Amino acid sequence: MRYCARCLYPENAKPTIILDEEGVCSGCRYHESRQKLEIDWEERERMLAQILDEARRMARQRGNSHDCIVPVSGGKDSHFQVWLLKEKYGMNPLLVTFNHAYNTPAGNRNLYNLVEKSGCDLVRYTAGLDSVRRISRHMLETVGDLTWHYHAGIRTFPFQVAVERNIPLIVWGEHGFAELTGIVSLEDFVEFTRWTRKEHDMRGYEAHDLIGRGGITLADLAPYVYPSDEDIARVEVRGIYLSNFVYWNAKRQAELMMEKWGFSPIAYERERSFNLHGKIEDHANDVHDYLKYLKFGYGRATDDASMEIRHGRMTREQGLAMVRRYDANEPSTLATYCDFLGLTKEAFYRLVEPMRDPAIWEKASEGIWKPKDAVFLHPIGEAEEKARVDPALDDLTFSETNRRMFYNPDNPPPKTGEAALDEPSLGFRVM
Ligand SMILES: [Zn+2]
Repeated sequence: MRYCARCLYPENAKPTIILDEEGVCSGCRYHESRQKLEIDWEERERMLAQILDEARRMARQRGNSHDCIVPVSGGKDSHFQVWLLKEKYGMNPLLVTFNHAYNTPAGNRNLYNLVEKSGCDLVRYTAGLDSVRRISRHMLETVGDLTWHYHAGIRTFPFQVAVERNIPLIVWGEHGFAELTGIVSLEDFVEFTRWTRKEHDMRGYEAHDLIGRGGITLADLAPYVYPSDEDIARVEVRGIYLSNFVYWNAKRQAELMMEKWGFSPIAYERERSFNLHGKIEDHANDVHDYLKYLKFGYGRATDDASMEIRHGRMTREQGLAMVRRYDANEPSTLATYCDFLGLTKEAFYRLVEPMRDPAIWEKASEGIWKPKDAVFLHPIGEAEEKARVDPALDDLTFSETNRRMFYNPDNPPPKTGEAALDEPSLGFRVM
């Protein structure tokens, strides 16, 4: 397997990355492009201000009190999006949560915190456990993803609310695919489209494709049905990504939200990553991420370490140690989800078998799957030395100032005194 000479992504990473002649991946190059001087962020903020002015004008015209929708989960990005729109741009966003049911106690704590601190109105749709179980199990069996309903709901329900309430603007945070792998550039000013929703977020499946499969009925799919073209055109809904207009730095934004609005990272070591502030609201993330490892041979520690390396906060050597520590761990919550979905663990592993990428996995003689390669088995050579970024000496991942942001076994974070943040939970919380 070839790995990026700068970050730790393998060539088979999903979505697709491309290694250039220096062995550096398209995700790393995209990250560089964001820091290039020719991007005029002040000009972009002016463009954002114009879009927001237009939304306010339309809201007034329509007699709406809300001028935009912000889809929120309660995570660090949700906090930042709402804070920026409300405090900096004077908007009155309607917060919309699609509750997929697989919540951590820390996630609920932070969502309640966001609602309390922002003072904004919230609409929350909670998917019932019967439909969640059916859809989750069917999509696990079909595409190896037990969180399909998250992406479908998060990318659809806000549009239903927009149509119902005649609100023309939805403000998303980061264009995630771009940041991870660099398949679209900042020059593109991509907006949300129905096509990317289906192809990227929903793995090519529309809600109606699932009817009749795995016992799924139309009633199970209500929050995942996209409004009609006529409705979208009538309300003139558009979805923009803030990361096209504001220099996106997830960690700095999390710190700002800790200071301004009391967002809190967790204070215990997770099983699949050293990151204490990202995706902490998603209880199924450990299993979801473990599936990625079983399919492609890398997991969240690779994602998180790669991001740290790109920012110069972590060396390649430290990143490799994180991959070694976390990527192969079977999460303890696997049993919880197998139980909930009505599967045995053996059945779970059998399901995954045909999804394993033969570029990285092989079945050893005893019938046990073994990775053929790992990034930490590759020595650091000339290409890797040449691809190093300058260290961010005032912001190293494992420095004292980042103690609450990243788990450092030699200097673990202090407890917060809140059980939701201090202790992992084997079960998920629906509400
Ligand atoms: Zn890279």
